[in-house]
Amino acid sequence: MTDAETYECPVCGGEFSTPRSRGGHFGLSHSDSEKEEALICRLQNLCEGLERIPKRCDMEQCNWASKSTVASVFGSWNKGLVAAGITPAQRTNIEKEELLSVLQELADEIDRTPRQKDMDERGEFSSIGSIETLRELQVRPVV
Ligand SMILES: [Zn+2]
Repeated sequence: MTDAETYECPVCGGEFSTPRSRGGHFGLSHSDSEKEEALICRLQNLCEGLERIPKRCDMEQCNWASKSTVASVFGSWNKGLVAAGITPAQRTNIEKEELLSVLQELADEIDRTPRQKDMDERGEFSSIGSIETLRELQVRPVV
């Protein structure tokens, strides 16, 4: 790691000074199949490095993609994992606190209360929890 943080294009390895400029380049300079291939490779490496199934929040530690990159290419985070041959965790006993923090993050990202569809597309868990959980969010439930 150098002092100046750079953001890497997962396809060509090009370096950018901001996630935005990297995102613009990534979105426009590479074909869909190139992006898929590169992200599959990166996700597999990430999985091996972590020795567990990568979570969406692990992307914060990566300089080659933002948290939404995988979902934007594959349709959802979990679809990206499946494409990389990684079976997404089937989690049934999610701690309420963890679910809340994921939901809150998702709410901040989409600027409204997440619905089941948002969770399917962008979330880590397939379950959105109960209405009671949603009520504890800082945003108003729109279910
Ligand atoms: Zn590139």
